Amino acid sequence: MPSSDPQAGVDYPRTFQELLAWFPDEAACLTYLERVRWRDGFLCPRCGADGEWWRVRRGLRKCAMCRRECSVTAGTIFHKSRLPLQSWFAAIWYVVNQKNGVSALGLQRVLGFGSYQTAWAWLHKLRRAMVLPGREPLTGAVEVDETLVGGVKPGKPGRSADGKALVVIAVECHDGGPGRTRMHRIPNASADVLTDFVLENVARGSEVRTDGWKGYNDIGRYRFTHSVTNLSESGDPAHVAMPEVHRVASLLKRWLLGTHQGAVSHDQLDYYLDEFTFRFNRRRSRHRGLLFYRLIEGALVASPHPYTTLLTSRDAA
Ligand SMILES: [Zn+2]
Repeated sequence: MPSSDPQAGVDYPRTFQELLAWFPDEAACLTYLERVRWRDGFLCPRCGADGEWWRVRRGLRKCAMCRRECSVTAGTIFHKSRLPLQSWFAAIWYVVNQKNGVSALGLQRVLGFGSYQTAWAWLHKLRRAMVLPGREPLTGAVEVDETLVGGVKPGKPGRSADGKALVVIAVECHDGGPGRTRMHRIPNASADVLTDFVLENVARGSEVRTDGWKGYNDIGRYRFTHSVTNLSESGDPAHVAMPEVHRVASLLKRWLLGTHQGAVSHDQLDYYLDEFTFRFNRRRSRHRGLLFYRLIEGALVASPHPYTTLLTSRDAA
């Protein structure tokens, strides 16, 4: 039975040796998935009841309310996987332990997959699991700015994307460096789009720092303190006036160029932004095992993605 104490469920292997010892077989993996998915108690995915249940077999429970059977992997990225859960766990361990991310080829080599396509599909499924719903919004002083990412055509100066993707980034400012970040590919830098992004990602009452772009003019209407740095009047270049968001933007670009050789299409960019965010926001985690736990947790709430839907962008999926 899962514990009723939410913290008691947060357990994870600390080392590779522990990973091997914890998950010697499929049954051990299923038990772990049950513990993570129903950490706060069983919740029937079919009728929503959070009451009694019976065990049918490992990984399969029968809801006492609707009397239907629920598999712990139903509706998750592990659903109907032809490969064992142990392979998934090994893939997740590998992904979270490579500081700068992994390529599909790297994953294929490490897991000994016969097909590159499988490794590629798994990586994309895991990227989709990297952003948990209900994340805590950013708080405190938060810098927000847009940047252009990727593309080979030289962009026009100013706010026009022109071959590049436009990405809006928010970063918490802590003493001595950036805190957590959020980012999103956006169609344009209009007030509607930018205000939506801030409302979705920054807690009310926070201080939002932007440049003088008119797309940010509405922010002050929503219980944010809006601090505007007018770059042309201050005489400071942007990286001086808003250091944290510019630091994160350049790390993002370097990461896309380094790990992925810049070969990321606009449609796939959303998922790479999620991966970058996942890694960045947990860069100081003492235990990589905690990232393993978080990614398993995300994988259990992400819906399964057949290969064909992985080829489309999030908006279309
Ligand atoms: Zn039920």
